[in-house]
Amino acid sequence: MAVPTLNERARITSTNPATGEVLGDVPNMTPEQVLDAVARARAAQKEWGALSVHQRSRFLLNLRAVITDRAEEIAQALSRETGKPPIEARAAEVFPVCYYLTWLARQAPRVLARERLGIGVMGLLGKRSYIMYKPLGVAGVITPWNYPFSISVGEIAAALVSGNGVVHKPSEHTPLIAVKTRELADLAGIPRDIFQVVTGDGATGAAVVDAPVDKVFFTGSVRTGKRIGESCARRLRPCVLELGGKDPMIVLDDAHLENAARGAVWAAFSNSGQTCAAVERCYVQERVYDQFVTRVVALTNALRQGRPDGPVDIGSMNNAMQFDIVRRHVDAARAQGATVAAGGEPNAAAGDLFYKPTVLTNVTHDMACVREETFGPTLPIMKFATDDEAVRLANDSAYGLTASVWSRDQRRAFRIAEQLEAGTVTVNDHMFTHAACETPWGGVKESGQGVTHSRFGLYEFCRRLHVNTGRADARVLWWYPYSDRLYRALAGAHEAAFGRGFWRRARGIFKAVGAFLGRKRPRR
Ligand code: NAD
Repeated sequence: MAVPTLNERARITSTNPATGEVLGDVPNMTPEQVLDAVARARAAQKEWGALSVHQRSRFLLNLRAVITDRAEEIAQALSRETGKPPIEARAAEVFPVCYYLTWLARQAPRVLARERLGIGVMGLLGKRSYIMYKPLGVAGVITPWNYPFSISVGEIAAALVSGNGVVHKPSEHTPLIAVKTRELADLAGIPRDIFQVVTGDGATGAAVVDAPVDKVFFTGSVRTGKRIGESCARRLRPCVLELGGKDPMIVLDDAHLENAARGAVWAAFSNSGQTCAAVERCYVQERVYDQFVTRVVALTNALRQGRPDGPVDIGSMNNAMQFDIVRRHVDAARAQGATVAAGGEPNAAAGDLFYKPTVLTNVTHDMACVREETFGPTLPIMKFATDDEAVRLANDSAYGLTASVWSRDQRRAFRIAEQLEAGTVTVNDHMFTHAACETPWGGVKESGQGVTHSRFGLYEFCRRLHVNTGRADARVLWWYPYSDRLYRALAGAHEAAFGRGFWRRARGIFKAVGAFLGRKRPRR
């Protein structure tokens, strides 16, 4: 994590991690520039927020058209700035963004429409309650480098369709794709001021949190997330925190082993393992353990790693700090007695930031590679005996983002899924649901708070306004003057509604009706 530098550097250089080539540079924006961006977004929000959700949705569909026209160019730009192969850029970023924009454009008018609430007996008295979803104002969106297009555009689009202004602070490792996103928004006709990009390092991010935004939407490490949570708490400002993970994968003895092995290798190593929901701990039932490990090692050794502009499965890691964490975790595990079954070292022939996809066995639950987020191409595999033990091991973690259970028996898998401490559990697959934008995404424990995607994610960008209406000429029962008759009617109604058994309820009705029909006496 970048430690805030108080904007010591005037500009930030972006390099291709696979080759070291300098790709360009952007300003390292100051707190004053951030304040200015927030003020402009707030001014623009008045007009933007007054549009209907349907009208705002049209801008999202324009953006989808622009992105689709330039999908290849975007995928190549993503590959250059992150080190991932273009196929991953397209499959996990460009395509899902277009899918999400479509979902938002179609569903937001329905999800954010005014709702009527049932209010029981109050409704019988002529009252009506409505919930309205109003924009918050200005959303501060701070994002990481691992999926710099899908995470950022997803948050920006959800903020915009809900009627908010957005100030986006992209990662200092991938600022150029954020600048390009603003250019795409220009082509889609999205007003300049309503969506602003403030490039910079951690200090610029801190300035966004300090600025008068209405809510902070942060995706990144637990360490930065805690700082942001503290800052927001001091201001009583809400925040959504999408943080790290250490996802467990549980392979039961009745799993389809070939699928489970292929799924494990993909979910551990795609994006060079730099995915918050990557499989970082794999638990395999003892009866199928050897067979599973043999197959995973064979599949891992068959992966092609190299410069992402070639025919490869795995590209480079994104930055030296992340690369060092991977090396430290693997070296420590080896020193503590783990077996390196595949990989286990940098791939220097490919370049400085390539680490070979690594399978570790004989690992124990106290090793850093099992306890801390690695966020790199490592797959530690452990054995378990019973379903209960698998649940206990999977839950023995500070994190709780996603998890998966692999079995041919859906009921057995579901029983285990229900007991896992995670935001999402998938059965016979892992981590893909970030691309299924209809479903909520968000973790528990140190993996964060709040949700993105789905209708729940849209609600995060709104304040709820409750309006209750009553008839102009209605005489409201609970107003003054209080009377004995009203008291007896209330007592009767209470007994009629909640009394024990039929006879007490019947007595309550009798009392309530009697009080209404009876003589008026002043309340004692
Ligand atoms: P990071 O926390 O270092 O940085 C994330 C962003 O925060 C960057 O834009 C950075 O400049 C900014 N930042 C840094 N210090 C700040 C501060 N003091 N105040 C405000 N902003 C600040 O994380 P990273 O290395 O960019 O991303 C990797 C992490 O993100 C991993 O832990 C990964 O699991 C997590 N992640 C989570 C999800 C999810 O959906 N839960 C998705 C992707 C990545």
